[in-house]
Order: sequence, then C-alpha cells, then structure tokens
Amino acid sequence: MFQKVAIIGGGAAAATLASELLERRTRQPLHLDWYTGGPVAGRGVAYGTPSQRHLLNVRAASMGMFVSKPGGFLEYAQSLDPTVKGSDFLPRRMYGDFLQSRVQQAVKNAGSFGHDVNIVPFAAESIIPSDDGIVIGYGDESSRADAAVLAIGSLPPRPLPGVEDAAIASGRYVTDPWPFLASAELDERPLRVLVIGLGLTAVDVLLELSTRWPNAHFDALSRHGKLPEPHLAAASAPHDDGGELIESMRDDPNLRVWMRRLRDATELAEDWRTVVDGMRPHTQSLWRDLPMRERSRFLRHARWAWERARHRMPPQVAAQVAALEAEGRFTRSRGRMRSVRLSLEGSLEVVHALPGGGDSTDAYDVVIQTVGLNTDTQRTEHPLVRQMVIDGIATPDPLGMGFAAVPDGHLLDGNGRPRANLFAIGSLLRGALWESTAMPEIRKQAQGVADMLLAEENARAAAR
Ligand SMILES: Cc1cc2nc3c(=O)[nH]c(=O)nc-3n(C[C@H](O)[C@H](O)[C@H](O)COP(=O)(O)OP(=O)(O)OC[C@H]3O[C@@H](n4cnc5c(N)ncnc54)[C@H](O)[C@@H]3O)c2cc1C
Repeated sequence: MFQKVAIIGGGAAAATLASELLERRTRQPLHLDWYTGGPVAGRGVAYGTPSQRHLLNVRAASMGMFVSKPGGFLEYAQSLDPTVKGSDFLPRRMYGDFLQSRVQQAVKNAGSFGHDVNIVPFAAESIIPSDDGIVIGYGDESSRADAAVLAIGSLPPRPLPGVEDAAIASGRYVTDPWPFLASAELDERPLRVLVIGLGLTAVDVLLELSTRWPNAHFDALSRHGKLPEPHLAAASAPHDDGGELIESMRDDPNLRVWMRRLRDATELAEDWRTVVDGMRPHTQSLWRDLPMRERSRFLRHARWAWERARHRMPPQVAAQVAALEAEGRFTRSRGRMRSVRLSLEGSLEVVHALPGGGDSTDAYDVVIQTVGLNTDTQRTEHPLVRQMVIDGIATPDPLGMGFAAVPDGHLLDGNGRPRANLFAIGSLLRGALWESTAMPEIRKQAQGVADMLLAEENARAAAR
C-alpha cells in the first residue's frame, strides 16, 4: 500500500475518498494529507449552496456516499425527518450537511485504526514527481507523499468568446454564478437579466434570483432554447430489454446508429426516461467503445440532447419555472451569443445570432453565463492544472474533457504512460469515462482508487 497519500480537493469527491480510506483497517497505518483549498472541507460547489431552493437532481435513495451503503443519505435524511421518502428530491444544503458529518466522523475515527490525517486548508499549486514519490507545493511550503489523487471538480469557468474585458470588469457580466448567487441581495428594481445557457445551473440561478429580485425580468438564450426535461414525480424501474439495446450499440459504435437505436427504444418504452436511466450503468463502457472521431461528433451534435434528458429537473422545480414563464417573468430564445459590450449608459449590450439568420441587439443590467462545466485543462488559469500541463505531469484530453487517463483513474504522463502513483476522480475523468460528475459515479471511483492505494502490491511503488 501507499502509506502516505495526498488528496487534493475540497468537495464531495475528496470527502468520499478520504472517508473510504480512513474507515478501512490496513496492515500499516495510513498518513493522509488532505488539501482542501479552503476552510470548509466536504461540500464543494454543488453542496455549498445555502439556499433551500436548490434541490438535488437525484432522488434521495440514490445519493449515498459509499458503494457499500447506497441508502446512507436516505437514512440520514429520515433520521431528521421520518416523512422523507426515497423518491424525494431534497435540498443540496442538507446533502452538504450529510457529507460533512460523515467525513468529520471518519476523521475522528481514523485514530482507532492507527491512521492520521493532516487537513491542509490551502490549494495545492504544484505536483512534482520525485525519486521517492510526489512533492506537492502550496504557498511557500511543500510536502511529500507516496501517491496523490486529484479531486478538484471542474475548472473555473472562462468567459465566452466575444465578451469585452470592460463588460467583465464592470461586474455585470458574471462568469461564475455560485459566488454571485451567494452574495446577491434583495433588489426591487425592474432589472433586465440575461442567462446564457439553459441547463440545471441556469434553472438554479432563475429560481434564486427571481425571489431576491422580485421585479426583474429574465431572458435565457441557448442554442436550442430548451430547458432540462423534468423527472416524473414517482421513480420508475429502468427499461429492461434484456440488454439488446446496449449490445446493438456496442456492435456498431457510430453516433448516427446509436441515435437511431435510442430513438427506436424510446418509442417502444412506456416512458423515454426509463431508457435513458437504463443506460446509466453502461454509459462509461459505451463511451470507451466510441472512437475519438465519434466522441467529438457526440460532443458537437448530441451532447445537448443527452444532457437535458439525463440531468433532469425535479418536478417541483419544473413547476416553478413553468409558473415564471406563465407570469411573463421568464422568456427563452434560441440563438448564439456573438458579443457583449459595456455601453456608455453602463448597461450591457448583447448581440446574438438569430436561428433564421441576422442578429438581434438587446440591453441588460446583468448577464450570467451558465454554459456547463469547464474541464479544458489545456486552456485554464487554474494554477495547479496549468503547472501540470506545462511541466508534462499530465496530458490534456484532446477533446477538452479533463486529463487523459486510464478508466480506473491513473493519469497519463506527458508521453501517454500511466503514472503509478497519480490519480484523479470526478470531472477530470470525463474524457476517459464521459459520465464522471455525479455521486453515483464518484462513489464508485472513490472505492476503486482507495482499493488501488491500499493494495499490497503497491508496497514496492511506495517504497521507491
Ligand atoms: C449545481 C450543481 C448541482 C449538482 N447536483 C447534483 C445532484 O443532485 N446529484 C449528483 O449526484 N450530482 C450533482 N452534481 C454533480 C456534482 O458535480 C457532484 O455530485 C459533486 O459535487 C462533485 O464533487 P467534486 O468534489 O468532484 O467537485 P467540486 O464540488 O467542484 O469540489 C472540488 C473542490 O476542490 C477544490 N479545489 C480546486 N482546486 C484545488 C486545489 N488546487 N487544491 C485544493 N482544493 C482545490 C475546489 O475549491 C472545490 O471546493 C451537481 C453539480 C452542480 C454544479
């Protein structure tokens, strides 16, 4: 086993891995350095929201932290409120409380297994492989570990092309919605707000700001103008065709064929959601079967449709969005943002291309960008990821989907060889796995990486 392990990241993925490691009895004690990037460890971006309006988009019964205990969150929620059901969509804040309480417990119990944990409340800024392991730098300090795991979530969002620097400097163009939402105050002015992108984050922004800004009007602009699909109120069993759909897709790893097969399957199913949900255990291996050219086609042409079918809104959230639309407070349009500039009057002038040709120009008080996770390691200002790319410690995924990696989490070095003692879990593995951001996938990765870190055959690597 690797005796001294470093986990880098302060969110749900890092908390899950830390707990997996600390709650196992090992032949020798484990020393864990956990670089959390800040004082709060375990919540990360998704579960750090203080808002009760921000709900999980996965039912409570499926949000357990460990593979060995998938119902763990439901048990926790029912201990607080016995009326909670497994099919409920609960507040993400409650999930953050759950994660924190579980990881605090694991840290407290670590001593009884002989393990010790050093929580470093700073961001790791460099990773340098050395003769006897890996040296992790933060501020003016550095520390050695036998192995390290990156669990840093997605990268800071970058402004879309066409956004003027002055628009960003004005503070009216928001590239990262989460800190903005956390500090947005009650404002009763008739603000004009544009949201660019129409995924689940856009929906969170809309629900939160429509309450804090009761007289604001919200426009949303996206390529297709469509909201995420809603979940059904009751959970339904995944579609079962005896594996025929998956086998037929494996036989012909071609995007056009796959779309046809999926369309046929959804037409036969009672509800299309059961087909999408039935694919979940297979999406990672199907993705691996797809040649790079087909993956690129998927990302360009089919990703938006897959995302809105796969990452759905809880029914009560869908009802709130529909009510805002019916009241005329929220409108959606199809189109592509071309430019955003700061006008002399201080508002933002947004030019967007219309689907039928031509442009439209509108003025807004605030523009909020919510265009999905950024995992482009080649073009990022994230200090650690930048250093790793520049120094050839890891190789960017060619499609901008994190780092090139073996599906089990080993990162590839600058020459495409797996590094024995450097791993990632979560969003940085999207290139290797595609589905790699939600808890059901993350807990499986955390279990697999913990197994590898503690495996006896790694003793030699650790001693090197
Ligand atoms: C709004 C939203 C809602 C979601 N809802 C759900 C849901 O309902 N169900 C579900 O299963 N999934 C959901 N997800 C997916 C979600 O991404 C995962 O469930 C999970 O939160 C990912 O955790 P993470 O630790 O990988 O990433 P993050 O939550 O992004 O955490 C990464 C952490 O690492 C820190 N960090 C970054 N760089 C460094 C560094 N150099 N050193 C130290 N620390 C660093 C960051 O500051 C951050 O705190 C949601 C995602 C979002 C964005």
